[in-house]
Amino acid sequence: MGKPTGFLEIDRKLAPKRAVSERVNDYKEIEILNSTADTEAQASRCMDCGTPFCHNGCPLGNVIPEFNDAVYEQNWKYAYDILSTTNNFPEFTGRICPAPCESSCVLGINKPAVAIELIEKSIIEKAYAEGWVIPFVPKVRTDKKIAIIGSGPAGLAAAAQLNKAGHFVTVYERADQIGGLLRYGIPDFKLDKSVVTRRVEIMKQEGIIFVTNSNVGTADKLANLTNDFDAVLVATGSTTPRVILAKGNDALGIYPAMEFLSQQNKRNASINLEVNHKGEKYHNTNIYAEGKHVVIIGGGDTGSDCVGTSNRHRAASITQIEVMPKPPVDRASNTPWPNWPNMLRTSTSHDEGVERLWSISLQEFIKNDRGELEALLIGDIVYNMKDGKIEQEVINSRKIPCDLALVAAGFIHTDHDSLFDQLISVGVKSDERGNLVANSSYQSDNEKVFIAGDARRGQSLVVWAISEGREAARNIDLYLMGKTSLEGKSVSSFDVLAK
Ligand code: FAD
Repeated sequence: MGKPTGFLEIDRKLAPKRAVSERVNDYKEIEILNSTADTEAQASRCMDCGTPFCHNGCPLGNVIPEFNDAVYEQNWKYAYDILSTTNNFPEFTGRICPAPCESSCVLGINKPAVAIELIEKSIIEKAYAEGWVIPFVPKVRTDKKIAIIGSGPAGLAAAAQLNKAGHFVTVYERADQIGGLLRYGIPDFKLDKSVVTRRVEIMKQEGIIFVTNSNVGTADKLANLTNDFDAVLVATGSTTPRVILAKGNDALGIYPAMEFLSQQNKRNASINLEVNHKGEKYHNTNIYAEGKHVVIIGGGDTGSDCVGTSNRHRAASITQIEVMPKPPVDRASNTPWPNWPNMLRTSTSHDEGVERLWSISLQEFIKNDRGELEALLIGDIVYNMKDGKIEQEVINSRKIPCDLALVAAGFIHTDHDSLFDQLISVGVKSDERGNLVANSSYQSDNEKVFIAGDARRGQSLVVWAISEGREAARNIDLYLMGKTSLEGKSVSSFDVLAK
């Protein structure tokens, strides 16, 4: 630990953000890169807590106190070496991770936690600026070939690791661009797509082959891959949206959030809107919020991304409705430290303007004579105790104007498409939620097929996808070679320091 009194002297300070009045006019990233001096000061707040819970809070097992110390000591190259041992893509997590590590930071027991995510982003951006992030081309190649289906963070992390182990890796992606939800889904104002492209270019130079517009299961059959490759990793995500079954749900003007968000990603990149993020035709190629009364159904992160995008479209009004009650402003007592806290989360998109309603029941989509959506009938959910049981009642039913409804009510499972059918036919199982099943080694009931990311665990987080991709890669290497030198999640501070 560098500065024993850092946490007593320095307050938590996050990176500056562009003013709302400026940023709603474009899709550029909201957060400005911190100054080197400010980040070093923030790193000095990491105290010598003895048992750092942040390691466990982070699904990647990032060795956080050590890189904080290196930053405080101005040894940024060493900080980058430590960080890149456990995380292939700190530039993604440093921008968009909800930072479970910070929720479990020991300092967070009675003071604001160390700004770990900010430090992570500063390290990787400095590493790029200094030219430390260079392609890792293995000196020795094995004769093993691995196919990865899906180029989201899980597939990309696995590709990077397996290539590092010397295997020949080909990534198949049904969309026209690489990146999964990093590319099509997450708005550019949270994660600029040049950040994704910058990493993919390095991976290409490392020898990884990327095949886009390749929907495995249709044109390229799974059987071709299982015959031609020594192992196949399925990292296809979980993007089948939940459908709202309320009356009138066939009205014109109701769209899944992903159709709305991916269209804006494509517009920003000047890519034509012929096909959506799944490589299928869009229902409507002009889902645009300008002048519309927008209601976003679902109070989570995807809904928040729709708020930010609707504000940039100049919507007439934006309302976000959520079926669950409003969470407490501070950490709820049933999720004490070091757990991930149940509490109200206000995103940068919320700061830009939205009306948020909780405990809302959506009763009907109201349409006009032409079948177009013009309002929603909603009511407040109240909970009453009756005969010792909690009963739900809907009161105060009312109409709210709405001519664009964006459904952000979660994703139910991985796509049940022709690839899914082919996987089942070769012995891969699905669970009760409809996702694909693998054992603790990420191996399915077909020994050649491994599963990682949202396709296995359901819609989750980028940091979990990277973690699953890395762990799956380690197990594939072990399966093919009988041993592996790829780092696992259990990497300790001593392993890192010994490198
Ligand atoms: P995905 O990223 O979904 O990638 C799967 C890829 O597989 C896709 O590119 C898909 O086209 C491809 N594919 C599927 N089937 C086939 C096939 N048959 N052939 C070829 N390719 C195929 N997490 C965060 O941590 N922070 C955030 O801020 C955040 N924001 C989000 C915003 C939105 C709108 C959404 C929807 C999710 C967000 N998430 C966020 C969650 C996060 O993006 C996912 O958990 C993560 O991307 C999952 O990674 P993955 O690699 O498993 O799957």
